[in-house]
Amino acid sequence: MKYIGAHVSAAGGVENAPIRAHEIGATAFALFTKNQRQWVAKPLTEKSIEQFKANCERYGYTAKQILPHDSYLINLGHPDVDKRQKSLDAFIDELQRCQQLGISLLNFHPGSHLREISEQQCLDYIAESINFALEQTQGVTAVIENTAGQGSNLGYQHEQLAYLIDKVEDKTRIGVCFDTCHAYAAGYDLKNDYDGVMHDFSDVVGFEYLKGMHLNDSKAKLGQKLDRHHSLGEGEIGWEVFKKIMRDPRIDEIPMTLETIDPQIWPQEIAQLKSYCQD
Ligand SMILES: [Zn+2]
Ligand SMILES: [Zn+2]
Repeated sequence: MKYIGAHVSAAGGVENAPIRAHEIGATAFALFTKNQRQWVAKPLTEKSIEQFKANCERYGYTAKQILPHDSYLINLGHPDVDKRQKSLDAFIDELQRCQQLGISLLNFHPGSHLREISEQQCLDYIAESINFALEQTQGVTAVIENTAGQGSNLGYQHEQLAYLIDKVEDKTRIGVCFDTCHAYAAGYDLKNDYDGVMHDFSDVVGFEYLKGMHLNDSKAKLGQKLDRHHSLGEGEIGWEVFKKIMRDPRIDEIPMTLETIDPQIWPQEIAQLKSYCQD
């Protein structure tokens, strides 16, 4: 079963996200459980938690159909120890929010070296942060998103994702989210060599660690290392790739969400994706 949706707004409270997902015909959704541009957020209220759970049940969203995204401010590989600690505290708070909401996955960008430390050192800091955060929490899997490699962001090579997984002690609570736009911009040619890219992913990372997907077309060209999303079929990747993904039996039972630039056409994009599914 393919679960397809979008990153919906949680404005007015997280409990509104499943309602908005339902309205656009989604069978999966992503959300921010707090304002993604602020460090500190008020704790979730009991009422909000209860209503979120009730709305998920009402519209048929189980934990495996929901993939929240953490704050953009968090950098688990920050070169500065105090700033890394601040990120770690915020990351633990995000994991706890998921735990409270009955959500079992949390998607995050690995981190940036800010050109102050080596990639290797940064990856080691990230792994250390993940291990610490997992020790402090329960039941939520940390889902590393591949990146476009913009600036000094790590996670733009399958090898980097695999390195992190390897360093994480609890393999049952680590996974990856594959963003098609980021992969393409990082140099993985999904358009001309879908099988080759997925073969490499399978060899280096392994589909058993694939816990989610972000379905985005790309304004940036192959290997341009720019994170510029586009509506499906409007960018460099094209519909053919998304059709292949919908028919790929290795990619199943995970939340697949749009982060495309025009929410007005999400219902059509979702319907089109669903029409390609063979189950
Ligand atoms: Zn992301
Ligand atoms: Zn993404």
